[in-house]
Amino acid sequence: MKFSELGLSQSLLKAIKRSGYEEATPIQEQTIPMVLQGKDVIGQAQTGTGKTASFGLPIIEHVDTDNPNIQAIIISPTRELAIQTQEELYRLGKDKHARVQVVYGGADIRRQIKNLKNHPQILVGTPGRLRDHINRHTVKLDNIKTLVLDEADEMLNMGFLEDIEAIIKETPDDRQTLLYSATMPPEIKKIGEQFMTDPETVRIKAKELTTDLVDQYYVRARDYEKFDIMTRLIDVQDPDLTIVFGRTKRRVDELSRGLKARGYNAAGIHGDLTQDRRTKIMKQFKNGELDILVATDVAARGLDISGVTHVYNYDIPSDPDSYVHRIGRTGRAGHHGVSLTFVTPNEMEYLNEIEKLTRVRMLPLKPPSAEEAFKGQVASAFNDIDELISQDSTDRYMEDAERLLETHDAKNLVAALLNTLTKESAKEVPVKITPERPLPRRRGKRKDYHGGSHYRRNNNNNRRRGNNYRSRGGNRSGSSRDNHGSSHSKRHSFNIRHRKEN
Ligand code: ADP
Ligand code: MG
Repeated sequence: MKFSELGLSQSLLKAIKRSGYEEATPIQEQTIPMVLQGKDVIGQAQTGTGKTASFGLPIIEHVDTDNPNIQAIIISPTRELAIQTQEELYRLGKDKHARVQVVYGGADIRRQIKNLKNHPQILVGTPGRLRDHINRHTVKLDNIKTLVLDEADEMLNMGFLEDIEAIIKETPDDRQTLLYSATMPPEIKKIGEQFMTDPETVRIKAKELTTDLVDQYYVRARDYEKFDIMTRLIDVQDPDLTIVFGRTKRRVDELSRGLKARGYNAAGIHGDLTQDRRTKIMKQFKNGELDILVATDVAARGLDISGVTHVYNYDIPSDPDSYVHRIGRTGRAGHHGVSLTFVTPNEMEYLNEIEKLTRVRMLPLKPPSAEEAFKGQVASAFNDIDELISQDSTDRYMEDAERLLETHDAKNLVAALLNTLTKESAKEVPVKITPERPLPRRRGKRKDYHGGSHYRRNNNNNRRRGNNYRSRGGNRSGSSRDNHGSSHSKRHSFNIRHRKEN
């Protein structure tokens, strides 16, 4: 449906157009008219479906720019999401000159207080910091018309219920309350009953999820085998931007350390890192300066990162909804993605549960051999060499090159270059990952497990199956991402990005 049919004014339609949105997403189409009418709304839709604009557009529509008070407050679970939301609302509200500010923990509160003196009309914030400001009387909520609980499931998971209650208490009783969430656990319904007035519930069902654009594979392996298999897979699949999900913070630390030790350009994020560090890593990843982001569910939830080609679930998630969120990081905006999920033998029931939700069967993938991984690396090095040779800056080495050729055999020189361009093998750099306890065995029948017939086939799998999905010499981005960040050894320092898809 067109945005112009939703009852929004011209200045907003202009901002929407400038953002490049052509059509409203299902959650936007269904909730924007209700929110404009002033109703309380519970909206559930998968990550990446445009929930921010679902509440953001009506809020901006209603904001009174002559009124200096805070009229809408959006509570957001993490700093990253709060910042992302503030940026989007600012962008959409620019033509109307709506003032939008964000407050979050781990940042200088005095600066935030100073900015609050500019009288934002819309405030986005994380629960703890919002409470801080309320207690210091630097944020007053008595003129709030609309309160939004964004990513509500995540806020509950993170234990913010008490903070949220305290914030809601500061707002007028006749406010409009909106709740947006990717999943609907029972506790959310409770919030609906407690803090909302006759809420309308809109649920965009899993069937409409965008998993069609993701080739979904799984590998059955024991916990201790997973790391070596994963690095081999990375060598063979040669992903562009990759997210690896680990179940715990320790996993994330160990995986990112292990990947770096083997020469991959990786970094991890989780809740224990400082805000500065997380922001820096996210920025590098978004800029393409990092190839692999290792993350916990919480740290990566809802982040809008484009260009992710591969998602590796190092640990299968216990909750099928989390799976959908994780793989929702790829296959965005019409681009194709690949997901790969490791499953230990006694976790197979969890795979079954996921497939029931997505109604797509994952395809089993055989772990590549060391030889296949090596071939993958060499093929990747060939691409790197094409790229390196085409760089103008090689001219000044010509004389030295000739001298080298006088003293060395050309073949030896090339072999040495290839050695430099390929990564350490599992044998050269053993990495040990502390075992995590596998998920508890699920009870219940194994009905449907890979025998059912009602699943859709995972689309496009034929296209990418076969010995590997590498498209050698295929079209590449052409941008070399050389020499960023790696410090371990020379052989890590070439890192050229290949685009696998058109
Ligand atoms: P969610 O909160 O559901 O996870 P977001 O609101 O963060 O999703 O939106 C995900 C991405 O989609 C953002 O980059 C946003 O700018 C973009 N987006 C939102 N609405 C539309 C639309 N109607 N058309 C195209 N892109 C959109
Ligand atoms: Mg969101």
